[in-house]
Amino acid sequence: MDVDDIRADLTEVLITEDEIHAKLAELARQVEADFEGTTPLLVGVLKGAVMVMADFARELRVHIDMDWMAVSSYGASTESSGVVRILKDLDTDIAGRDVLIVEDIIDSGLTLSWLRANLESRGANSVRILALLRKPESIKVDVPVDYIGFDIPPAFVVGYGLDYAERYRNLRAIGVLAPHVYQ
Ligand code: 5GP
Repeated sequence: MDVDDIRADLTEVLITEDEIHAKLAELARQVEADFEGTTPLLVGVLKGAVMVMADFARELRVHIDMDWMAVSSYGASTESSGVVRILKDLDTDIAGRDVLIVEDIIDSGLTLSWLRANLESRGANSVRILALLRKPESIKVDVPVDYIGFDIPPAFVVGYGLDYAERYRNLRAIGVLAPHVYQ
């Protein structure tokens, strides 16, 4: 789905498909260098990180393993609840592994800060975080992020895996959802 298919549902296009791909390539070069000599386990956070994971993993020119977790997020609301529940756990034993969490967006930081502690408690050798988007003005807990794509304003965004009530995940770009859609 392209921006032109749902133009009236967006107030603004924040990041184009080309900009996303260029940024993921840049981050991939950093990750290749930082993880040299080890095979990282990429942990994608369902469902929002599906597109980031698919494109980022293919940018990497080295072997990786891939696994997925699903944790509770907002449902159909646009505000962070701070409640984190595991809906789907990893299939992989991560003891001794170098883990790279792949996330779509850091809003309050609550989800990632919980997830990092959870994975560290399982005996991972290292746990790093890659997030395509971050809203610096919304951060409630400080979570060190190793790889960041873009800092964005504290608006509710959709596209490239990010949904509103399960819609817009297949939008190629990232845009700000118009209030008339959710009010
Ligand atoms: P946090 O725990 O950092 O507040 O929230 C992280 C999760 O909230 C993300 O993985 C995502 O599912 C959801 N989220 C936060 N901000 C947005 C947003 O602007 N748009 C959408 N679609 N989801 C968001």
